[in-house]
Amino acid sequence: MKAAPFDYVRAQNLAHALDKLSESGGDAKLIAGGQSLVPMMAMRLARPALLIDINRLDELKDIEIQASCVKVGAGVRQRDLEFHPQLHSHLPLVGKGMQWVGHEQTRNRGSVGGSLVHADPSAELALAALVLEATFTLESQSDGQRHLKADEFFLGPMFTAVSDTEALTQIDWPVWQGSHLGTSFEETAIRKGDFAMASAACQIQTHEDGRVRRISFGLGGVDGTPLVFTELAKSLEGQVLTPESALHVAHEAAQSSQPGSDMHATAAYRKHLAQVLLSRALQSAYAEACANTQASNIT
Ligand SMILES: Cc1cc2nc3c(=O)[nH]c(=O)nc-3n(C[C@H](O)[C@H](O)[C@H](O)COP(=O)(O)OP(=O)(O)OC[C@H]3O[C@@H](n4cnc5c(N)ncnc54)[C@H](O)[C@@H]3O)c2cc1C
Repeated sequence: MKAAPFDYVRAQNLAHALDKLSESGGDAKLIAGGQSLVPMMAMRLARPALLIDINRLDELKDIEIQASCVKVGAGVRQRDLEFHPQLHSHLPLVGKGMQWVGHEQTRNRGSVGGSLVHADPSAELALAALVLEATFTLESQSDGQRHLKADEFFLGPMFTAVSDTEALTQIDWPVWQGSHLGTSFEETAIRKGDFAMASAACQIQTHEDGRVRRISFGLGGVDGTPLVFTELAKSLEGQVLTPESALHVAHEAAQSSQPGSDMHATAAYRKHLAQVLLSRALQSAYAEACANTQASNIT
């Protein structure tokens, strides 16, 4: 199939892009990497009257590393984030998740913001944003800026809080301070690079004695949006994580998800996968945090 007819404009700067969005009355779409939008248009699942190209907007392409936060412009290519020299030291969970995002070719073009606004329930960056409680900056010509937490941003499958006249401009990723940190990103897909049938992400910080100080974890691909489990995470604080407690928590989390069935997997299989992957992610992140504890005791 071919895309329905559309007009095209290359935005000169962010203000120009926002003007065009505002003028269009909801019939325009921003195009970043085009890795999701172009296939959607080719299948006529998206029929924008106007494409506003934001590919050349340098103002959306900064990565600013701060001690407590990494600020990533929405237009940053996924590949540029993946290869940023400080990504793994500051945002190890994002670093691990990035390796599951599509293929080299899609990461070369695809942007961080495009992935988040596309909001596929299996998207790794969306899951990482929820687990780390990232903050999203949205901007429109009429209302200026507003800031949303990840759990306010993702509303459903391919559905976010971004209005027709808004652009996502920046994502602020909190950096967990201190040592004894472990992370894990687990995923199963039919082939490497395909969207996940299910995925699990976990970030843990432990005390010197191995008790959990801080923990956040979530599941992707098993509900309308990725899921985080704040209450279950709290129940692990102050505890030593055992294989039994990891499995118990993973079971509770998977049971509360509502996956769909499709040609790749039944809902029951996805739930089972979610439990296995999350149990594995919890134990592996915990082991890494404990190993980092030992390493920091040695040095
Ligand atoms: C073969 C293949 C495999 C893939 N596998 C994966 C995978 O495993 N995991 C994964 O997460 N993704 C995967 N993807 C999707 C890929 O990550 C896309 O890059 C991403 O979903 C969209 O990013 P983009 O920059 O290309 O956005 P586009 O396709 O240009 O845009 C996507 C949507 O976001 C909107 N948009 C873009 N930028 C902004 C902005 N700044 N503000 C507001 N709206 C904006 C557009 O209007 C559009 O609605 C895959 C894609 C392909 C083709």
